[in-house]
Amino acid sequence: MDMDFENRIVAPEYSPEDSETELSLRPKRLSDYIGQDKVKENMSVYIEAARRRGEGLDHVLLYGPPGLGKTTLAGIIANEMGVNIRVTSGPAIEKQGDLAALLTNLSEGDVLFIDEVHRLNRSVEEILYPAMEDNALDIIIGKGPSARSIRLELPRFTLVGATTRAGQLSAPLRDRFGVICRLELYTPEELAQIVKRSAGILGIEIDDSGAMEIAARSRGTPRIANRLLKRARDFAQIIGDGVIDIKNAKQALDRMEIDALGLDSVDRLLLTAMIQNYNGGPVGLETIAAAIGEESVTIEDVYEPYLMQIGFLSRTPRGRMVTPAGYRHLGIPMPGQQKLF
Ligand code: ADP
Repeated sequence: MDMDFENRIVAPEYSPEDSETELSLRPKRLSDYIGQDKVKENMSVYIEAARRRGEGLDHVLLYGPPGLGKTTLAGIIANEMGVNIRVTSGPAIEKQGDLAALLTNLSEGDVLFIDEVHRLNRSVEEILYPAMEDNALDIIIGKGPSARSIRLELPRFTLVGATTRAGQLSAPLRDRFGVICRLELYTPEELAQIVKRSAGILGIEIDDSGAMEIAARSRGTPRIANRLLKRARDFAQIIGDGVIDIKNAKQALDRMEIDALGLDSVDRLLLTAMIQNYNGGPVGLETIAAAIGEESVTIEDVYEPYLMQIGFLSRTPRGRMVTPAGYRHLGIPMPGQQKLF
């Protein structure tokens, strides 16, 4: 079977089709940021305290699956602190000099956002430590016996790092973040609010039932909710009267082969492969990856969080297992059980 992983509509990673609207849909203030109440409460306290003391904000690490609002939150932090934000990513900083250039160009108090911060290479990380700790940049000049190190003062800055996997961060880097926040998948109610907010900004008409239908199928992820909203608008305009209601939302989502719980063909393939080839598990991650032709990191970061959240997959010390609820959803009887339906 040839699965189209790249263009998967429920992929939570950023895709070029999001670009025109992603910017306008990003909340700019903490008060517009829907859900993540614990993170929001904590952040607002830290921000307020730093502002009152006239100090910079501690370095912040945000982690959680893609599309949950890490980049958005970094922008909000900068806005609320009244400073500029510079955006880059771990793999984009190849050499020490790249990071040195970024750091020396910051203004006092600025936010430096590094996405995929777990992918920074070792030598770059090493110059990040004194920068985070002492606002200093140690540069080596010359080579061999005549080499010497000089220390440059940097402006005070806040590093906001984002990662899908906090476990892969080196311990010395992780220890230098004063604030560590984990973003959770959103509830359907929160996603419905996000869908309505986005519809308002994009001038799309939608009723409560339509918003809830899209929310329920967005696998806990705002980026997916926004993408499904735009697709549903197309359907509502062509086959309906332009207003997204439950009827045409359902029709649009069915046409996209996204089922009632937001699973698409790849999720179903993953579960079915585990059931048919490995009796539903326990089976190792690498084995599943090979069976469906997908990278194991992608399975771990992208597919599993949601399948576990809805209780279709469990992780055991011996490997992954499909749960009875997963079997039921696919309509496959569990081995050793009477068919009840
Ligand atoms: P990440 O950096 O975690 O991959 P982003 O910050 O790029 O995710 O968020 C993806 C999109 O989802 C953004 O364009 C934004 O519109 C929307 N979004 C994310 N979190 C929220 C939120 N809490 N409230 C409203 N919209 C959100």
